[in-house]
Order: sequence, then structure tokens, then C-alpha cells
Amino acid sequence: MGSIMEKYSGVACCFCKNNVQATGVDPCDISIATKWDRPDQKRRDQLFWCHAQCFKDRMHKNLKIHFWLDILSSDLDDDDE
Ligand SMILES: [Zn+2]
Repeated sequence: MGSIMEKYSGVACCFCKNNVQATGVDPCDISIATKWDRPDQKRRDQLFWCHAQCFKDRMHKNLKIHFWLDILSSDLDDDDE
């Protein structure tokens, strides 16, 4: 108990706006980095929370095969206890 996941379980998914419970690989965060191809320019990053499944649902069908986070074992949740 008292895992670090618990304090993040109240966040809203940026796709469905529902609460993201600390289950499986959730909550996940998505970070968006601007101008990543231009390291000489000032870049900005922004982070959003989401369900892994919501993110996967919105990926192009040809790219979903590269999404592997959801097959991670829930045993990994025990790492921060
Ligand atoms: Zn969601």
C-alpha cells in the first residue's frame, strides 16, 4: 500500500475525460515535445494523462502493433511498494 501510483489516480484522461484509476499500466502520461527536430531552437514540452487503452484506440490501425505497454504484466505494479 501507499504506492506512488495512488497519488496520481485522481487525474482525468485527456481523451475520455474520465478518472484514470491506478490499474495495470494506468495512469499513463503523454508528453508532447515541440520542434523535436530542431534542437537549436527553444523547445516546449507539455504532459497529459490518459488511459493506455484510450491512447491505443486513437492510434492509426497500422501503428497499433507498435504499442506494447498494455501487454506488460500487472506484476510490475508491485515495483514501487
Ligand atoms: Zn480515457
